[in-house]
Amino acid sequence: MTSVFDDLVGQEHIIDILQGAVAASRTSEESQEMTHAWVFTGPPGSGRSSAAVAFAQALICPNSGCGNCSDCNAAKASGHSDVEIIRTEGLSIKVEEVREILMRVAWAPSMGGWRVVVMEDADRLTESAANALLKAIEEPGTRTVWLLCAPTLHDVLPTIRSRCRHLQLRTPSLEAVAKVLIIRDDIAPGMADFAARLSQGHIGRAKYLATSELARSNRSLIMQLPLQLESLAAAFQAAEKLVDLATQEANESSDERDEKEIQKLQEAYGKGATGRGMATGGAKAVKELEKEQKSRSTRMVRDSIDGALLDIATFYRDVMMVQIGATEAIINSDMQEDIQRYASTHPEQSSILKIDSIMKARYKLAQNAAPLVTCEALMCILAKQ
Ligand SMILES: [Zn+2]
Repeated sequence: MTSVFDDLVGQEHIIDILQGAVAASRTSEESQEMTHAWVFTGPPGSGRSSAAVAFAQALICPNSGCGNCSDCNAAKASGHSDVEIIRTEGLSIKVEEVREILMRVAWAPSMGGWRVVVMEDADRLTESAANALLKAIEEPGTRTVWLLCAPTLHDVLPTIRSRCRHLQLRTPSLEAVAKVLIIRDDIAPGMADFAARLSQGHIGRAKYLATSELARSNRSLIMQLPLQLESLAAAFQAAEKLVDLATQEANESSDERDEKEIQKLQEAYGKGATGRGMATGGAKAVKELEKEQKSRSTRMVRDSIDGALLDIATFYRDVMMVQIGATEAIINSDMQEDIQRYASTHPEQSSILKIDSIMKARYKLAQNAAPLVTCEALMCILAKQ
């Protein structure tokens, strides 16, 4: 029998807990003890939000998460009256948004079971938003279950996390990722292995690399950057190139979506009509949507730069592997010659310092530092011996 948990790659330890909770939630005695707030943490790509959504489906599905019934399908597509999936496109979740969610979920669940709220980016809650949420989580006797997702437990405010049950997802093994690509996405085994290794357990990224020519060619260009850092001038050029490539990749996926959303909104207000509707409310709504889209695209560019920096970090990691004689452990097997040449001409301790600088730059970007300036400063450091 299929199950909504089938798609959680390499997370058997969590699936057991979730299935146990689903089973307990169905008996009237044990359901009194149902945990009302959960935090799912795990590295990017480990599937923390997929795990939360699967749990939500299983809680409202008459068959404990079959993945086939109308309840399961509606829940996944955000179309179920008892399941809310909150995806943040902006950089933070504000208190007004949380209040709005609380109003929406204040009703008793329509089917008499559970009402489930999945919040995919609980790390983006502002402090006042988190406090508003805290009150709802603490309310006794409710039929609402909160599933919060964040990269690590430290990204969730202590007041909230102390009231949640914590589930930590693992980075799936490369074999597990490759297997999913082959079986689920019909990707050839050679390509699946290659993509799984390069993406280091990030399933979404692995699939993207395996299926997009542009993603692969962009990655090759990014991975050439460490080899081009021969002067400060080259460092500035490399920073610009990195930001350009990342922006291009982010825009490619968002442009089409933006246009479709605006079209849909205009249709809803009666595009082409000269009535007051479009002239007043419609124009305002389009403007608001455009603002939202801009904030989303800023975030996507940041995510894309972050991915590029992680890729570059794997280059220096590979250099270290070669320097300590563990050549078989390198990730970027398609660059073996470049990596060996670099390893033989650079001091051993410099790679670890470079990786450290990359991680610091990522942290600054996550704190909203300006992307180009941050990348320029980083490339100047990487250009040093
Ligand atoms: Zn179902």
